[in-house]
Amino acid sequence: MSQSDVIIIGGGPSGVAAAISMRKAGIKSVTLLEREQHLGGATRHCSHSPFGMLEFGRVYLGASYGKRLEKEAQKFGIDVRYGHSVARLGDGGELLVSNFDGLQTLSAKRVLVTTGVRETTRAARLVTGDRPVGVLTTGTLQSYVAFHNMMPFKRPVIVGSELVTLSAVWTCLSHGARPVAVLEPRKQALVRVPLNWFPSLMGIPFHRDAEIVDILGRGRVEAVVVRRGEKTETLDCDGILFSGGFTPEASLFMTSGLTMDWGSTGPAVDQYGRCENPHYFAAGNVLRAVETGGWAFREGRAVGHALAVDMLQPASGETPIKVTFDEPIKLVVPNLIRSGAELPGGLNDFQLRFKDRVNGTLSLLIDGRSVWQKKALWRPESRIIVPRPTAVRHAQTIHFSFSRED
Ligand SMILES: Cc1cc2nc3c(=O)[nH]c(=O)nc-3n(C[C@H](O)[C@H](O)[C@H](O)COP(=O)(O)OP(=O)(O)OC[C@H]3O[C@@H](n4cnc5c(N)ncnc54)[C@H](O)[C@@H]3O)c2cc1C
Repeated sequence: MSQSDVIIIGGGPSGVAAAISMRKAGIKSVTLLEREQHLGGATRHCSHSPFGMLEFGRVYLGASYGKRLEKEAQKFGIDVRYGHSVARLGDGGELLVSNFDGLQTLSAKRVLVTTGVRETTRAARLVTGDRPVGVLTTGTLQSYVAFHNMMPFKRPVIVGSELVTLSAVWTCLSHGARPVAVLEPRKQALVRVPLNWFPSLMGIPFHRDAEIVDILGRGRVEAVVVRRGEKTETLDCDGILFSGGFTPEASLFMTSGLTMDWGSTGPAVDQYGRCENPHYFAAGNVLRAVETGGWAFREGRAVGHALAVDMLQPASGETPIKVTFDEPIKLVVPNLIRSGAELPGGLNDFQLRFKDRVNGTLSLLIDGRSVWQKKALWRPESRIIVPRPTAVRHAQTIHFSFSRED
């Protein structure tokens, strides 16, 4: 069984950035396993910009950003293996990998998992009705358009109101389809003003407090039954696009029994991106849904640097403590904190998300004492950054509390 210093699973922006930063930090052999035939991850099928401004000083479309990542990986001598899909993680850094030659086992002193996110499909959203052709997620639609030059419908209904929903609207309009409506089950859109004006500015009705309750169509989608407030109506359409509702692509952690964080639904990680099992690290969108390409790149670079230092000067194996939080906070990353020597790089701040739109005071308590607080109107799924005080390394308890002020 061949052994690398580091294996990275996933060749999106975070995986490639981590690989580069490890090579720069002096790690000799860095192997990157990617199941597809190209690097770039989810950015590859985005037929729009902006990608790359902060990391490369220029704006790329999604596909050309992926090509730039491939060039960088080559320049830094990274051993990229395409068509390699990892199926299992072993306790000591050994990986079961499937490729065209069959199954093989690879191993490394450290493994970094950067497998990104997945969008919530119709099945996971529990939408009932007929099972016709023409029900997709944005990622699948964009893959059809980018890789096969194929627009599978002309009058879809789009569900969601995240940034990716705007990407879905734009992909439709720029490739010959005109959405019939955009539906958001919540009372408010998830993207803020002025971005949430985009569908209406394009002449597409944008309904909040509206959801699909039935799908009609024997062969193709023919219509959807929609609840809007107290009323229901039928909208004729020829497709349905479920956009967003991202969750981390953390199936490797679940199937391999590595510790998960049930807030983020990604792996549990400490302030360096290191998992409870110290052979494993994670970075990028697999830590939490969902960030931009540039964010994923910077996070990969920072976690890659911490991993490299950890490997060159292994830290003592302190058992991490768990970061706890009140409802309606949805998640906190990092969700573990380890004591011991501070490594450079890693996750400098806590990142939080709320489940609901709430007014109130968010506080960080270390050993029961408030060290940070802020009163605001918090919006669901918006990124919240709380600086991580160095004192947390020595804490016995770390808790985010919330007091509602309606
Ligand atoms: C539809 C859509 C539109 C977007 N639009 C924008 C935008 O306009 N601007 C922007 O900044 N961001 C955008 N994003 C977000 C951006 O694409 C992500 O933030 C970024 O790609 C995340 O990088 P990552 O490295 O964490 O994961 P990903 O880019 O998702 O990469 C994960 C990689 O891991 C691989 N992988 C997964 N599992 C395995 C396995 N078991 N074995 C081997 N390989 C595996 C995948 O094939 C993939 O290549 C968009 C995302 C989507 C889905």
